[in-house]
Amino acid sequence: MTAGPALGVRGIRKAYPKVVAVAGLDLEVQRGEVFGLLGPNGAGKTTTLEMIEGLTEPDAGTIQVLGMDWKGHGRAIRSRIGVQLQSTSLFNKITPREALTLYGSYYPRRRSPVELLELVQLTEKADAYHMTLSGGQMQRLALALALVNDPELVFLDEPTTGLDPQARRGLWEVVRHIKREGRTVILTTHYMDEAEALCDRLAIMDHGALLTEGTPMGLIQGLAIPSVVELTFHGAPPDPGGFRAQLGVEVAVRGDFWEIPTRDPKALLPRLLEAAESAAVPYEQIHVRRATLEDVFLHLTGRSLRD
Ligand code: ATP
Repeated sequence: MTAGPALGVRGIRKAYPKVVAVAGLDLEVQRGEVFGLLGPNGAGKTTTLEMIEGLTEPDAGTIQVLGMDWKGHGRAIRSRIGVQLQSTSLFNKITPREALTLYGSYYPRRRSPVELLELVQLTEKADAYHMTLSGGQMQRLALALALVNDPELVFLDEPTTGLDPQARRGLWEVVRHIKREGRTVILTTHYMDEAEALCDRLAIMDHGALLTEGTPMGLIQGLAIPSVVELTFHGAPPDPGGFRAQLGVEVAVRGDFWEIPTRDPKALLPRLLEAAESAAVPYEQIHVRRATLEDVFLHLTGRSLRD
């Protein structure tokens, strides 16, 4: 293993005829980290990953993968990284065991299919046709394929998109295992809970540029508003205008609830309950939660990640 960061990116940029997909981005990922690239649809995450993986050439900027430049070191880089393929791109009638054997045969250094199947909990499905696997099983196989050459650095592009909550958690466990093996993982996601659960550090992107980066906790605690009080209504919430003025707080209306960010929920709650009582605000439930990465994104962009 060479020393230095797993990834160093300086000023990369990629423009398509109608859009600047990545508008000058710097990133540094340390060895052994799980690093997340987050952002809404079209933020430029996939284009960034494709440039780092050597699939797309940047218009400008430099990329160092495991201390090497793609120009002149393509083979060496490729032998030491793993890229998760789209799970649907495999031949229908190949089995997980066959796929792992076939992909392994491309590399001089490879892990055994039996070991990889166990790692992603697919031993029972080792000899089943690919087309008979569930979505979660296909994604786990795609992950095993990304590990076939025993890579130091693993790239996962939205590894849990389209999976149900249980299958997502199964995949998170595999990612944690990969980290425990000492590998570096770079993943993209638009699930904030996933980023919070898995990533040591993350970068939030929007419109091809970096908005912020840090640890999930650091980003959340860096918000001026570490807590949020939610008032849920039965049906459409009333207009919060009067309330806002009376209490001097921000109130955002989201679906069937109000969201009130606060630095001090203990002080706010009694005042809030009293004001709601006197104004006959017909709320159903009230609860306090700590701010999440979703709130960080909202704070930075004024938009929800899912808008
Ligand atoms: P998603 O979460 O939807 O995958 P993303 O953050 O990965 O989004 P990209 O796929 O990198 O975003 O796309 C960034 C922008 O570049 C989008 O506006 C997209 O339409 C555009 N884009 C991506 N690839 C191409 C291409 N090959 N040709 C033209 N435009 C492209």
